[in-house]
This record gives sequence, structure tokens and C-alpha cells, in this order.
Amino acid sequence: MEEARLLILGGGPAGYTAAIYACRAGLNPVLLEGPQPGGQLTTTTLVENFPGFPGGVDAFTLMTSMRDQARQLGADIRTGIAVKAELGSRPFTVTLDDGSAIRAEALIVATGATAKYLGLPSEREFRGRGVSACATCDGFFYRKKVTAVVGGGDTACEEASYLAGLCSKVYMIVRRDVLRASEASARRVLENPKIEVLWNCNTKEVLGDENGVTGVRLVRKDGSEFEVALDGFFLAIGHHPNSDLFREWVATDSEGYIITDGRTSETNVEGVFAAGDVQDPRYRQAVNAAASGCRAALDAEKFLKR
Ligand code: NDP
Repeated sequence: MEEARLLILGGGPAGYTAAIYACRAGLNPVLLEGPQPGGQLTTTTLVENFPGFPGGVDAFTLMTSMRDQARQLGADIRTGIAVKAELGSRPFTVTLDDGSAIRAEALIVATGATAKYLGLPSEREFRGRGVSACATCDGFFYRKKVTAVVGGGDTACEEASYLAGLCSKVYMIVRRDVLRASEASARRVLENPKIEVLWNCNTKEVLGDENGVTGVRLVRKDGSEFEVALDGFFLAIGHHPNSDLFREWVATDSEGYIITDGRTSETNVEGVFAAGDVQDPRYRQAVNAAASGCRAALDAEKFLKR
């Protein structure tokens, strides 16, 4: 079986940054990119909030650059999906979808999180063309335009408040007659004159043309339908951390986010570190993911050189 000193799972900002640091520390990391090389960022287009790029940077270019940097420094980057992890004793064993396995002295889990979508065909059709699951990433493109946010949790409220600072009007599409969000978040939404909550409504279809989203067809609890004209349609109905493979070994919170110790990337399993969105339900920004990848590599280095 193949042996690696450090195995990094995840080809997003956290994984690539961990690889960059690990290479420079002489750890010869193997990085497994998984099903979405480049990570969640590749679902957006222009990234204007990653420091160092006045005028913004194309998300694909940004991620390809991080990947190239890791590779040039010596990272062994491979495509493959981890299907099994055995973390009960060291070295850890990770089995890939092609049946092969890698044994590693240390492991960095940087497998990210997946935004939940409603699952409508029209939503898929306009993804990246008016449909987004990240207002902080894409809201800027809807200045003075009309947008909607689906969901009634803290994320939805924060995203609606954020968009209200940019857009001419923001609808919140809430499936019940209450918000799940904390009182403070909910109050901010309800007191904002730019935000209109559409209670007891579900989305039936995202409407659009060759230029992208033009509106949405909603259905009320009583079955009646109506349409709202929109430029942008944002999902904020939760994320799913990609931690399923590790939950047998690694402590997670009730949502499945991997728990790390204080400011470190250490999990409850010695030698297993977590970085990026798989351990971050709160900030979910590429720059944070990159920073936590750095922390994980430094923690892994300390562990391996001990
Ligand atoms: P939540 O699970 O808290 O909320 C999801 C929201 O989406 C709910 O209102 C839910 O409706 C709605 N929803 C789910 N599925 C659908 C669907 N298919 N159609 C329509 N609506 C749907 O997720 P969040 O991302 O908001 O928050 C996750 C965690 O992170 C929470 O614990 C939250 O408190 C925390 N958080 C904290 C923040 C802070 O403190 N500043 C900021 C952001 C998040 P329903 O209520 O009917 O189930």
C-alpha cells in the first residue's frame, strides 16, 4: 500500500494552501482533489474580495493559480474520491474510489461544505447566471437591482441584510410564517424597509431567459401561485459539511461540522487536522479557508516533527 507522510483531502483554498505550506516544510504532501477541483468557489465567476487582486480575479483562475503554486512547490496532486477512512490507529488509511488506498502519518481534512439547493431543474439551469448560494460572494453584481433570498435562518437574514445594503429591493422567501433566525437577525430584517418577507411561500420555478434570471414563480400554502420579477435569486437554506466519511472517528457538532480545538486545526484524533468549510459553519469565505489551511499545515508539521 502506498505510504504518504501527509495526506490532504480537498482541492479548495484550504487544501491547496495546506499543500503550499506543507511542501515548504518538506512534508511531501499528497493532495486528493475530490469531486470538485477548485472547491465551492468555482461555482461563482468573479471574485472581488480575495485580497491582492484589484479589479477582482476570475474564480477559476484563482483556484488554478493556487493549485499550480502547490504543484510547483512539489505537491503530489491527484484526482480521486475518498470512499473510506480508517482513523482508529496510525498510520491512517484512506481508500479511494478506484479501490487503491493511501496510508498516511497525518491527515488534513479540507473537504469543504456543499450549499443546499432546492433541487429545481430551473434553479440548476440558471446557476451562476442569477442563481447563487453566496450573497457575500456574488451580491456585489446586483447593485441597485432586485434580488430574493430563500430561507428563514440566520444565514438568510444576514444575506438579506447584506443585499439590502446593495440592492434596490430584497425579497425573503420563507416557507413558514416565522423566521428560524435569532431574534436580533430577524429584527434587523423585519425593520429594514428594503426587505419584504414573502411568508408561507415556496419556490415553484426560477424564471429566466438567455441573459439569466428574470423572476421566480412562487406558490403559497393555499396552492395559489404568483410571480415576482427579480435579477438575482439567492439560496440560504443551509450547508452540508462534507464530513460523512470521518464522523465515525472525528468529533463533529450536531450539524456535522468537524470540531477543532480552540484556535488550532486539531481534531479529537491525534494526527488528524481539519481546515476550511468542513469545520467552519460561520465565515465560509475563501480567504478564511486558505488561512485555516495554513494553520492545519503548521499544526501537521509540528505533529510530524515532534
Ligand atoms: P438553518 O438550518 O438555521 O436555516 C435554514 C433555513 O432554510 C430555515 O429557515 C429553513 O426553513 C429553510 N429551508 C430549509 N430547507 C428549505 C427548503 N427546501 N425550502 C425553503 N426553505 C428551506 O441554516 P443557516 O445556514 O441559516 O444557519 C446554520 C447555523 O449557523 C445555524 O445554527 C445558525 O444559527 C448559524 N449561523 C449563525 C450566524 C451568526 O450567529 N451570525 C450566521 C449564520 C448562521 P424552516 O425554518 O422552515 O426549517
